[in-house]
Amino acid sequence: MDNFLSRIGKQDLKINRKAVYLILMKFAILIFVFLSIFSMDINAQTVEEFAAAWERQHVSNIPPSNVRHKDLRNYLEGLKKIGVKVDEAGRSYANREIYQIEWGKGATRIFMWSQMHGDEPTATSGLIDMFTFLQNNRDKLAWVKKLENSVTIRAVPMLNPDGAELFQRRNLQGIDINRDARNLQTPEGRLLKKLRDEWKPEIGFNLHNQNPLTTVGKTPKQAAISLLAVSGNPKGETYAGHERNKRICSLIIAALNKYISGNIGRYDDEYNPRAFGDRISEWGTPVILIETGALHGRDEMFLVKMNFIANLTALQSLVDGSEKTADAKVYEKTPFNDSGNLYNFIFRKANIVNFAESDKPFVSDVAINAERRRAEAAAPVFVQEIGDLSVFSGLEEYNASDFYLVPKNGLLKIGSSGEFLFYKKGRKIDWKAKDLEKQFAPDAIFSNGKWIKNGNLLKKLR
Ligand SMILES: [Zn+2]
Repeated sequence: MDNFLSRIGKQDLKINRKAVYLILMKFAILIFVFLSIFSMDINAQTVEEFAAAWERQHVSNIPPSNVRHKDLRNYLEGLKKIGVKVDEAGRSYANREIYQIEWGKGATRIFMWSQMHGDEPTATSGLIDMFTFLQNNRDKLAWVKKLENSVTIRAVPMLNPDGAELFQRRNLQGIDINRDARNLQTPEGRLLKKLRDEWKPEIGFNLHNQNPLTTVGKTPKQAAISLLAVSGNPKGETYAGHERNKRICSLIIAALNKYISGNIGRYDDEYNPRAFGDRISEWGTPVILIETGALHGRDEMFLVKMNFIANLTALQSLVDGSEKTADAKVYEKTPFNDSGNLYNFIFRKANIVNFAESDKPFVSDVAINAERRRAEAAAPVFVQEIGDLSVFSGLEEYNASDFYLVPKNGLLKIGSSGEFLFYKKGRKIDWKAKDLEKQFAPDAIFSNGKWIKNGNLLKKLR
């Protein structure tokens, strides 16, 4: 500015045209730069901004477990409409189309695939929301623009459409595709290997769901998200791409800690020669495994949001430089997952009456678990454990010490249905009565994971 004024002052009468043009040019450039700064966020986005962006812009609108192949096709039509490249990459055993999405025009090749297990759907919706966000923000967010110019992402959403249609883990041949990396007897497994081998991506993302009762270590906390930077080295040796993936995992953990702190675990890296995550790493594409679990009280869409945040955090780290400076220790110090410590429901110190066999009650804890089903279907529940369960936890626990717990079919056993009648202790009941439930109305009834009568009668412990 000083320079400008002094120049004007010196040439009050005889204006040097060239100088004025130069100054105007400088102003124009300055104004352009300022406008660019204000119209484009050149800073990296925060986790909260990712979360808010998902809330405003996500297009996945069905609980992931309800998404069928036709719903995926609708999602992909939406991507095509906004200009994202989507192609058929191959066919499943039942001849369903398997698609590949491509975005970006940069040199770094990133490969992602979801739902290799048909009943593990969360990441499929997460990918749709991620590509929608990237495509819609290319000209709004500088980091996305930079990403577009520096990476190319290819993603196969729903690698196992036949399994997804039946909501089952395996493909239609009954083969677990993730144990077919060596035999390659499934068309889906062969396609995955072909897409990897032809393109030789530098980073892979293997996207799954884990058992909802997976815990962070021995704690009763569910692992809502679990990570693994896969080495793929039979001797477990590390290398540059593996170390980079550990740092990316650290950034994902730090980001997700804002929402699910204490509910993040990691998997032990045990080499499995039949598994794709290990083999794809070994073939030259170091893989990050992201497993979505569950979080009691949160729905599936919340976990889609967590996937969205994890994906964008990983991608942003490749363009803002944080991938190089992050501390792998955050990942390395994250507790390992565990299983077998947590049940869906535990009834503690119940007075159990197996009226089909005996009218003498015994005191025991009872744990029941729900099977994994689509959101639209009722999940059947089965007795999982009977006895002293004081060292275990339930997502929901009830004190049944003042009640008789009576299995509806008369005999409590492992694997029997979790349908229970509760009678207040001290009530005079003829356990041999024909049509017990009609003759002696229960005080409370628990059926298929729900209280259908007087749910507030038993004290809730957890
Ligand atoms: Zn899986």
